Amino acid sequence: MPSPQPAGTPPNMPPRRWVSIHAIEQATPRAIRLRLRGDDLEGFEIPAPGAHVKLILPPPGEVRPAVPLRYEERRAVFEDGVTPPFLRTYTPSRFNPELLELEVELLLHGDGRASNWIRTAKPGDEIIVAGPRGGWTVPQDGDWYLVAADDTAIPAARQVLAELPAKPALVAFEVVDEAERRPVEGAATATWLFRGQDAAKAGKPLDAFVRSLELPPGRGYAWIACEAGAMRRIRRHLIEDRGMTPEQLVTRGYWKLGSPDHPDGDYGQDLPGHPG
Ligand SMILES: Cc1cc2nc3c(=O)[nH]c(=O)nc-3n(C[C@H](O)[C@H](O)[C@H](O)COP(=O)(O)OP(=O)(O)OC[C@H]3O[C@@H](n4cnc5c(N)ncnc54)[C@H](O)[C@@H]3O)c2cc1C
Repeated sequence: MPSPQPAGTPPNMPPRRWVSIHAIEQATPRAIRLRLRGDDLEGFEIPAPGAHVKLILPPPGEVRPAVPLRYEERRAVFEDGVTPPFLRTYTPSRFNPELLELEVELLLHGDGRASNWIRTAKPGDEIIVAGPRGGWTVPQDGDWYLVAADDTAIPAARQVLAELPAKPALVAFEVVDEAERRPVEGAATATWLFRGQDAAKAGKPLDAFVRSLELPPGRGYAWIACEAGAMRRIRRHLIEDRGMTPEQLVTRGYWKLGSPDHPDGDYGQDLPGHPG
């Protein structure tokens, strides 16, 4: 297998590792749990709740992602005639260092390149994992916490919940329907919201939930991750109507309605007057 880090790889690029699919499990009708294994995972760690990796995936018809011949500046150069792979952002859901096994949960959501890839992927297929990066070190001085996530962000929310101190936590998950409900440790009292099959409704139930809340007194922190437009509406509401400050908020657009390959660093910082 060619090195996933060829000549000229910029030193600040996150490490790239070959892995192969050990198992593909149906967590819910729409959520596929991938168990990825490989010696390259030696030393992998999930740095903080909500960190992400890039899955580097082959285009349709290819069995594994092509590796660049070299990098020029930050631009990957591939052999002539080779179709470059594509990258998508996912949460490293769990890592088992004994088995060198990384778990990632991918949603089947309709017509997306990664969503289509997983429909035909099979055990033994090889892909590249880049990262991890990012994540949120959960402040421990909150009097209360708000955690609201749609189905793309449930793996990250699980990690956030595991780091909360023993303080009141308001927790909501938005999924398509009842069949998508799944066990989430530390969230026995979570509210499950159902948006139905229409993707255009994404984030609306979460937005309505947050607006309906009576927030506890004291200093709170909110971690919100969902569709980018809904995230902006919720962020604006928490700042403008509830008086929360950007320092109390982590708001993340995990995907954007009608827009493929939404960038992984969308925190809603662009909202006027509210630098993140
Ligand atoms: C930090 C971070 C962590 C993430 N972790 C996870 C994770 O653990 N599991 C996970 O499943 N996703 C996760 N995502 C979201 C995932 O990266 C996006 O859903 C991505 O767009 C999927 O790629 P795709 O190739 O299937 O679709 P794309 O090619 O990117 O998009 C194609 C079309 O599908 C739409 N679309 C994309 N995602 C959805 C969706 N969920 N529901 C409905 N329509 C959609 C787009 O609006 C677009 O119109 C994460 C995103 C970020 C930024």
